[in-house]
Amino acid sequence: MSHTVEILSVGTELLLGNIANTDAQMLSQGLSELGLNVFWHTVVGDNLQRAEEAVALAKKRADIIITTGGLGPTCDDLTKNVLAEAFGRKLVFDEGSAERIRSYFNRIGRTMTDNNLQQAMLPEGCTILPNDWGTAPGCAFEADGVHVIMLPGPPSECRPMFQYRAKPYLLSLSEGVIASHTIKLFGIGESTMEAQLRDQMNAMSNPTLAPYAKEGECELRVTAKAAADEEAQALLQPTVAQVRELFGDKVYGVDVPSLEYVVIRDLKEKGLTIGTAESCTGGLMAKRLTDVPGASAAFRGGIVSYTNEIKAGVLGVPQDMLNRLGAVSGEVAAAMAEGARRVLGCDIALSSTGVAGPDRDDRGSEVGTMFVAIATPEGTRVRALHLGARPMRERLRTQTASHAFDLARRYLSGLDYGD
Ligand code: ATP
Ligand code: MG
Repeated sequence: MSHTVEILSVGTELLLGNIANTDAQMLSQGLSELGLNVFWHTVVGDNLQRAEEAVALAKKRADIIITTGGLGPTCDDLTKNVLAEAFGRKLVFDEGSAERIRSYFNRIGRTMTDNNLQQAMLPEGCTILPNDWGTAPGCAFEADGVHVIMLPGPPSECRPMFQYRAKPYLLSLSEGVIASHTIKLFGIGESTMEAQLRDQMNAMSNPTLAPYAKEGECELRVTAKAAADEEAQALLQPTVAQVRELFGDKVYGVDVPSLEYVVIRDLKEKGLTIGTAESCTGGLMAKRLTDVPGASAAFRGGIVSYTNEIKAGVLGVPQDMLNRLGAVSGEVAAAMAEGARRVLGCDIALSSTGVAGPDRDDRGSEVGTMFVAIATPEGTRVRALHLGARPMRERLRTQTASHAFDLARRYLSGLDYGD
């Protein structure tokens, strides 16, 4: 049976526009990956009568209702009462949940007030979804042919509660398993990727292929449904292989979190170290590399050489080169990377220099003119980028750092530099 889902978000803040409904967005993404059809997003304030009306409507038209928010300890938190009432369930005290709440407060060193125990009142006979990320437990139950799942509002709780609590519950509703792989690409635009795949995507039903674009990168998620995991994997493999074949070395990994993860992983595998010399990215490359757990085994350090003085004084970029070409040039990017390699004593070094805007530089280089370079024992390579003036400063910097990482992962995999 195919399920229809309604996401019902409770909170006056949402209606006032104080916050955006990011929980619903996150849930919709997750649910569609499970092959569940989300047909409605509803938002209602912390108002008893309107909440009751919203639930009555959802009950009529959806067979899975997922609520967010309103599970907290205060009197405006009315979600459980309304749902329990609508489905004829009593709220009963759950000692296990109360104990979890008490120990949560102990752990964070705050005193618990009595109303916090309100959160341990749960619909009779429900499946409790323990909350390891906050206090309010979630819950799930089936009544009148409808599945109800209640999740807390704070996104830092809602996300893991969906991932680790609601998802397993939902999977138990569908027969068989759903498995997916995410193929990550760099150096291809979303529209080019889609154009190459469109016919194939339209023709596919199991597995399905869904493209995503973000921050100058693309992802393709392949999802299959089958009776057992092995069978699902067997359905997925040919498509993954086909996509790899089609996009070649633009694919930088499958089921990997990021370019920087791949760079650090490959460095560690080879026992090599890396360092950075950054101008326009202002430390973002170092930040992203050190976001990867275990980066210390490969990342030696970075220099943010924002002024010419530091480029020359610390990295040894020749002053006459800076005078002649200005800081935004391929030669300077190369000299920065070579300088970083020497000064930081690392096997490979990455550099960036460019105009992140909002204004052109004093030599008239356009916003979005960027150079990244890699210095290795085998030589130095520069990539010139023209990212266009339209993207925001932040995006330009993110994309520039990603291009530098792309040079590094290509070097480490023995690929050509791709331009
Ligand atoms: P708490 O125990 O913190 O009271 P709760 O489950 O009762 O959690 P709410 O009181 O409705 O949730 O919301 C708590 C906070 O979570 C809000 O102030 C808001 O910052 C965030 N939040 C609530 N709903 C959403 C939503 N749909 N999308 C994004 N953020 C939300
Ligand atoms: Mg609340």
